[in-house]
Amino acid sequence: MKAFVMKRIDEVGFMEKEKPACGPNDAIIRTTKALVCTSDVHTLQGAIGERTDLTLGHEAVGIVDEVGSEVKCFKPGDRVCVGAITPDWGSCAAQCGAPSQSGGALAGWKYSNCKDGVFAEYFHVNEADANMALIPEGVSDEAAVYCTDMMSTGFAGSENARIPLGGTVAIFAQGPVGLMSTVAARLLGAAKIITVETDPQRIELSKKYGADHVVDFAKEDPVKKIMELTDGEGVDSAVEALGFDISFQQAIKVTKPGGTVSNIGYHGEGEFVHIPREEWGVGMANIDIITDLCPGGSVRMKRMLALLEAGRLDPTLMTSHTFPFDEIDEAFRLMQTKEDNVIKPLITF
Ligand code: ZN
Repeated sequence: MKAFVMKRIDEVGFMEKEKPACGPNDAIIRTTKALVCTSDVHTLQGAIGERTDLTLGHEAVGIVDEVGSEVKCFKPGDRVCVGAITPDWGSCAAQCGAPSQSGGALAGWKYSNCKDGVFAEYFHVNEADANMALIPEGVSDEAAVYCTDMMSTGFAGSENARIPLGGTVAIFAQGPVGLMSTVAARLLGAAKIITVETDPQRIELSKKYGADHVVDFAKEDPVKKIMELTDGEGVDSAVEALGFDISFQQAIKVTKPGGTVSNIGYHGEGEFVHIPREEWGVGMANIDIITDLCPGGSVRMKRMLALLEAGRLDPTLMTSHTFPFDEIDEAFRLMQTKEDNVIKPLITF
């Protein structure tokens, strides 16, 4: 089968690989739609170290091609959504409530990290019954593929931020993950949603997805503006969805005592992330900092799909480009350069 791989740091290409083998609890999926993620670019740049001929990609949906003898909930021909994170549900981390970290820090994230990813004609799913969900009839593959990471991660950003009903929230950056945090903030009952972004298209989408105020950080100081918009109080909750030291610091600076800072940004550069000491109440202002990796699992996927089925959001507004699998290298290049107002490139198989 054909696969799109990271040959080594900063080099990609196509190669022929064996179709993956199916263990008793596993499934093999024939890929139908996939999305390229900024995390794939981080991986290629060496953020998680050197990899050789590793198939890239972790966001995909497809048709079940094969299931193992112990798989009970799926059969060949089923249309399924597979979480970007596929935990080992019997692991210590999963039993302790952090399934995404099963097997060690971030190790529930297997695709294009510890095993071949989904940018191939077929891909493998461990613990298929626990890690995938049937796509409801009324939900398209093009929409369902957003459940795998962008919705699950973005929604976790706002869920973890513990936004009170009628509360205020600031969301730093409106890339695809930040945009999904904005949707979730609205669904969770925030009364005032302030987002921070400078790209005009993303500003437009942010408003469509529920932002009440978008602060353009290129034109004004986001901390000053957010304090103004909250009568000097700060927000109940802040979501960091960028992965920059500066926006992480700003998220803490605008959060009021007793509030929560939720980090879902991928901090891929630098040695440290800094906490502004005074605004953090010298460590005693009851400001909690919560971190997370995309939640995976069949229940999570089912819930994301249920939101799509109920018409609560349309994630396909974020699809800025579409490429056939043969041209995925061009989609990848766009994600690296962020040219042509790219938000999410959809790959069709
Ligand atoms: Zn992703």
